[in-house]
Amino acid sequence: MALDTMQDLLIEELKDLYSAETQLVKALPKMAKGATAPSLRKAFEDHLVQTQEQVSRLEEIFETLGKSPKGKKCKGMEGLLEEATGMLEEEGDENVKDAGIIASAQRVEHYEIAAYGSSLAFATQLGHTEIAELLEITLNEEKEADQLLSTIAEEEVNIAAPGMVADAMGEDDDSAEGTKKKAASSSAAKKSPTNNKK
Ligand code: FE
Ligand code: ZN
Ligand code: FE
Repeated sequence: MALDTMQDLLIEELKDLYSAETQLVKALPKMAKGATAPSLRKAFEDHLVQTQEQVSRLEEIFETLGKSPKGKKCKGMEGLLEEATGMLEEEGDENVKDAGIIASAQRVEHYEIAAYGSSLAFATQLGHTEIAELLEITLNEEKEADQLLSTIAEEEVNIAAPGMVADAMGEDDDSAEGTKKKAASSSAAKKSPTNNKK
C-alpha cells in the first residue's frame, strides 16, 4: 500500500501491531511454561489475558477505520520471539534462565511501547480521538508489564541467581568498607540493562 497520507501510515503501523500482538498471544503460554519463578509465570499468564484484550482493541480500531487488520507480518516481533524461544531452550541454572527470559520479554515490551507510542501520536494528530484513547490504554498496559518484569528481576530472580554480588543487592553489612562497596555496586546495578526501571 502506498504511503500517501499519514492515515495510510497509521493503518500500516496498526497492521504491524496486530500481527505483533497475535504472534505474542501464541508465544506467551510457552514463556509461562518455560519460566520457573511462580511470579514470573503469573506475569506471563496475566499479560496473555491483557494481550488478547489488546488484539480486540485493535480489531475495534480497524472496524472504526473500515479496514481489515490482516495482511502484514511483523518481522520485528518474529525476530524477538525467535530469540525468546532460544532462551527457553537453554540449559542451566533456573534463576539465571528466568533472568534471561525476562531480558527477552522486556525487549518485546519495549518494541511494543515504541510502536504504540508512534501510532498514538499519529492518531492524536489526525484527530482520531477515540482511536487514540484505545491506543493509550494499551500503551499504559505495556509500560506496566515492563515495570513488573523489572521488579520481578530485581527483587526476586536476580537475587537468587548464583554469582551475584550480595553487596550490590542491599544485603546487611555493617562495616564501613561494606557500605562503601554497596554504594558503588548498586549504582552499577542501576545501569544494568535488565534493571531498566523508568
Ligand atoms: Fe501487547
Ligand atoms: Zn514490526
Ligand atoms: Fe505486551
